[in-house]
Amino acid sequence: MSHVFPRHCHSDLPRAASGDGCYLIDQTGKRYFDGSGGAAVSCLGHSNARVTQAIKDQADQLAFAHTGFFTTDPAEELADMLIAEAPGDLDRVYFVSGGSEAVEAAIKLARQYHIENGQPKRRHLIARRQSYHGNTLGALAAGGNAWRRAQFSPLLIDVSHISPCYEYAERHDDETLAAYGARAAQELEDEILRLGPDQVMAFLAEPVVGATLGAVPAVEGYFARIREICDRYGVLLILDEVMCGMGRTGHMFACDADGIAPDILCIAKGLGAGYQPIGAMLCTRGIYDAVASGTGFFQHGHTYLGHPIATAAARAVLQEMKDNALIPRVRQIGATFEAALQSHFGQHAHVGDIRGRGLFWGIELVAERETRIPFDPAHRVANRLKKAAFNEGLICYPMPGTRDGKVGDHLLLAPPFIMTEPQIDEVTSKLGRALDCVLSPKS
Ligand code: PLP
Repeated sequence: MSHVFPRHCHSDLPRAASGDGCYLIDQTGKRYFDGSGGAAVSCLGHSNARVTQAIKDQADQLAFAHTGFFTTDPAEELADMLIAEAPGDLDRVYFVSGGSEAVEAAIKLARQYHIENGQPKRRHLIARRQSYHGNTLGALAAGGNAWRRAQFSPLLIDVSHISPCYEYAERHDDETLAAYGARAAQELEDEILRLGPDQVMAFLAEPVVGATLGAVPAVEGYFARIREICDRYGVLLILDEVMCGMGRTGHMFACDADGIAPDILCIAKGLGAGYQPIGAMLCTRGIYDAVASGTGFFQHGHTYLGHPIATAAARAVLQEMKDNALIPRVRQIGATFEAALQSHFGQHAHVGDIRGRGLFWGIELVAERETRIPFDPAHRVANRLKKAAFNEGLICYPMPGTRDGKVGDHLLLAPPFIMTEPQIDEVTSKLGRALDCVLSPKS
């Protein structure tokens, strides 16, 4: 992705002029199938009438009221809707404006909880390598992506990074899935013991890794073991579902499929579905009560917390998902999408792995299928593929390989939940032509 500082300096890019269901349309009238929704944002597609009407109505009625003085109907009703679906004991919601803010709030709440609870030595966060949790300094420190961190490392808090649960790259040939999951989870216990259990405040992970590895679910049993380890040592489990939450994997929350619940949960992208910038941090009643009955004040805040228009839009997004049974639809159409991806690309000489859940799929591109060796990052395979697909009228999200050679190129597909079967054919044909253009089987 180009992140050159805009003045709007992306003058070489087409101008997005309008949206129509699963399509974005540029100023020349060219239509692009939105196969990734930016990065897993546009779960309802574009131009959803209920959501745009909710935004207009709320703007007419009330645009802003500071949360230091007021709460509002949309914020309260949205919180109730989220809590009704939330796993485990999650019982309180803190609305922010996006994913990084949700992660920052989670890290600070974990720290404050331990202080309120009489354990001020707990200050250490453990996260995983090859992860992304946002670009603000706390979230960046938590992320394990070496390239994103590199120039800011002197500014980052000290966070330990253990291995992700990344079966394709890290399971030994002679290891069962269960043994691999147990070995990967054991790294957490080892790190807690190395640091000293009374020093560790939280473990942070994505249930399905999105932005760095292209939709990698953990193997069965991994998160159950992680939950046990956190409980044993009084370490809070923070799950980052900024990308994989809100129905994207075929469950409202991705961790539902792992049969566990976190102490703190972060959500964003699909919550506002691109119609408004909004994220949220959910926490258990126990954490909330520790703060409420202690200092009585979470030492955090932003001007636009619980913004009325953003919460009204998200309330309409959730209502739309519910009324149209979109989450069961994600499971059903997701299975067809998976089958189509496997049948078209599963045997491609440069496709090493296709993995994901629901409508959240990653394609790992390799120089050699047999040895799983990644492409040299200098070839910029993922970015070239993004460009070739874009020329074909398909938007997919590239994840470039890293210079350390440990992580190869990936492509993320996260189409809208309203995608139809004929559109699956459209995506596979366009992606097939893009792959042929960039990676002929001999390249
Ligand atoms: N966490 C995860 C897992 C993400 O994928 C992202 C964004 O891609 C973030 C956090 C940061 O979200 P935002 O870009 O809304 O700040």
